[in-house]
Amino acid sequence: MAIATINPATGETLKIFEPLTDAEISAKLEFSQQAFEKYRQIPMAQRSQWMNATAEILEREKEKFGKLMTLEMGKPLKGAIAEIEKCALVCRYYAEHAAEFLADVPVTTDANHSFVRYQPLGAILAVMPWNFPFWQVFRFAAPALMAGNVGLLKHASNVPQCALAIEEIFTQAGFPAGVFQTLLVGSDRVVAIVADERVKAATLTGSELAGASLAAAAGKQIKKTVLELGGSDPFIVMPSADLEAAVATAVTARMLNNGQSCIAAKRFIVAEAVADRFEKQLVEKFKVLKVGDPMLPDTDLGPLATPNILQDLDYQVKETVKSGAKVLAGGQPISDRPGNFYPPTILTDIPPGTPGDEEEFFGPVALLFRVTDIDAAIKLANATPFGLGASAWTTDEQERDRFVSELEAGAVFINGMVKSDPRLPFGGVKRSGYGRELSIQGIHEFVNVKTVWVK
Ligand code: NAP
Repeated sequence: MAIATINPATGETLKIFEPLTDAEISAKLEFSQQAFEKYRQIPMAQRSQWMNATAEILEREKEKFGKLMTLEMGKPLKGAIAEIEKCALVCRYYAEHAAEFLADVPVTTDANHSFVRYQPLGAILAVMPWNFPFWQVFRFAAPALMAGNVGLLKHASNVPQCALAIEEIFTQAGFPAGVFQTLLVGSDRVVAIVADERVKAATLTGSELAGASLAAAAGKQIKKTVLELGGSDPFIVMPSADLEAAVATAVTARMLNNGQSCIAAKRFIVAEAVADRFEKQLVEKFKVLKVGDPMLPDTDLGPLATPNILQDLDYQVKETVKSGAKVLAGGQPISDRPGNFYPPTILTDIPPGTPGDEEEFFGPVALLFRVTDIDAAIKLANATPFGLGASAWTTDEQERDRFVSELEAGAVFINGMVKSDPRLPFGGVKRSGYGRELSIQGIHEFVNVKTVWVK
């Protein structure tokens, strides 16, 4: 894939970038290594100051960066600006808490003095997706840099200007040159970069295929990885639920970011007793969503990020319908305008073995399933290779406890939408990946947990 800015709302190619040569990549890795040797000595208070300065730049220029994201990948501008604000929040969170999270931990043993010390590893490669072009990067970079590591960003090829802007923000904030560098390279260079001895560990947010490839390359070199991969999150509605609230949240949870979020609710699993009402209200709400130019303030749903994503989604819907699923809304790409537009879509009566039953749908398509009781709801929710998030709606305490303990997911939200929060760990189980970002767990992923024993 070319490294380029292509407006997904118009299909227009706005800027093309030459990928770095191997010699240029090597020079950047060398610079990164040198920067690490000095940066690891910088006191935490100074790192915090630079991280807070990063937050200030983001807050001050949130409109500018928000527009850049909308231009490159099509998310509605309001959401883009909120994403920049959230990036500032994660910077401030780690600026404030890193010292406490990384403080020595005393442990009583047979030594006179024994403790755990957290030390940085060096250059960490972050391979990132286009769907939250700033947030995905900042939730990696804020803890990694506060821990004394240096960052190397290989961003998705369709958001090169976001990638360059992020490097510029860290530099402007005062971080020394080389502490955070963007590498404009295609995915074909990733294996070689991971294998380079100057790179100490890697994190990838994206598809299973990309994650497996990166982890295999890192595994050969015995390097640590964190993987944040796909999801097909269930959204379960039980008879006792506040139905109005559940339907309203269902719309947001499915449509956020034009339906292209790993933790979007994708499979709606509804108890028979309330299924007709849920379905009717969901259809009504989907049909009034405004599809259009993502730069306009009243747009609910912009274009999908690339023509390929549109094609894949269209194929998944068509295959599922061909096998007997019923279309309650949408169902066909929007063809009377340029850009990668797909309408809010609901499928039901989804036969087993179809894409709707087995795959992640990365776009504004809700998959609706009916179940007789909680046993069937949990069984269906877990019948997926993924395990990222799960949302369950009930006011029954016993049901709540069962969902919390039996749903196979990295996060369970009761009566709320799955979302990330700097204060809470984020990550998946099963084929959704491993490791955690955010919170104290996130900053401990890329450190040497050093045991110290002194007699
Ligand atoms: P993708 O194709 O895997 O791309 C993600 C990143 O990986 C890009 O930088 C891409 O570079 C790179 N990449 C692609 N193939 C690679 C390979 N073989 N080896 C190394 N790097 C490779 O992902 P996507 O389809 O754009 O993103 C959507 C997926 O990401 C969905 O499954 C979604 O659920 C998941 N996601 C997960 C989370 C989470 O937190 N768990 C968050 C957001 C998205 P190029 O652009 O140059 O190809």
